[in-house]
Amino acid sequence: MSREIRILLDAGHYGKRNRSPCVREYYESEAMWKLHLALKAALEEGYNGVTVDITREDQSIDLSVNARGRKAKGYDLAISEHSNAVGTNECGDTDRVDVFYAWDDYNGASLLGNVLMKATAACMGVAEGRAKPRKSESGDWDYYGFMRSARAVGCPLYYIVENSFHTNERAARWLLEDENIKLLAQAQCDAIAEYFKLKPIAQLGDVNTDGRVDQYDYILIKRTVMGTYKPTADELRRCDINGDGKIDMYDYIAVKRLIAGTL
Ligand SMILES: [Zn+2]
Repeated sequence: MSREIRILLDAGHYGKRNRSPCVREYYESEAMWKLHLALKAALEEGYNGVTVDITREDQSIDLSVNARGRKAKGYDLAISEHSNAVGTNECGDTDRVDVFYAWDDYNGASLLGNVLMKATAACMGVAEGRAKPRKSESGDWDYYGFMRSARAVGCPLYYIVENSFHTNERAARWLLEDENIKLLAQAQCDAIAEYFKLKPIAQLGDVNTDGRVDQYDYILIKRTVMGTYKPTADELRRCDINGDGKIDMYDYIAVKRLIAGTL
C-alpha cells in the first residue's frame, strides 16, 4: 500500500483583507478562505490516501506568513492561495495566473507549478499564465516568507498560487461566485491528484473505479445482470446501486440514470 500524502493549504489572508477596487464585495481573504476549504473537501472526498490540513482553524485568526509556512513541517506539499493585485491597487486589465515555485526548482518544483498554473488558468478562462520562481534579492532563498519558512522546516514542495488579479473586474467577479470557487477547487484538486497519482475514491456505480460512472460501468453492470460477467465482491458492492443486496434490472436502470445525470 502506498504512503499517505499530506497536504497543507493556506488561505492567503484573514478577516476582510485586500478588497477589490472594482468589485467592492470582493475580498481576497474571503474568496481564498472558501477556495482552500473547497480544495480540502475535493481532495479528501474525491481521493484515497490523502490528508489535508489548513494553516488556521478560523478565518478571523491573523497568523504571520512565516508562522503559516512553518506549519508545513511534515507535509509533502504546501500551497498558499491568493488573488493578485496590481501595484497601485486600482482597476486594471491584468488578468493572469501566477504560480510561484522554489527559487532553485527544489525537487523539480516547476513541474507541479506548471500543472497548477495551467489547470487554474484554464478553469478561470484566463489566457495568460506563468509558473516561475521568485528569488530574494538579498540571498539564495525564496522571496516569499511563506515559501521560505516552508522550506526551512523541510517541506519538499511549496507554492504560492495567485488566482489571477482581483484588480481585474472580470476575474474578481468570477471569483466572487461560489460555483466558480468549487470549479476552481476541483481543477486544482485534480491537478494535484494527477501529480501524486492519487487514486479516486470509488463511488457507487463506478464499478471499475476509474473515478467516473460511465458506459464502461454500465456494460459491466449489464453483463452482471445477464450473467456473462462475474464481479468481485467489491465490484458487486459498487454494482448494487439501490442497495437491495442483489444486482438486477433496477441497478441497470439506475446506472443509466446516473450516467445521464437524472439520478
Ligand atoms: Zn494575497
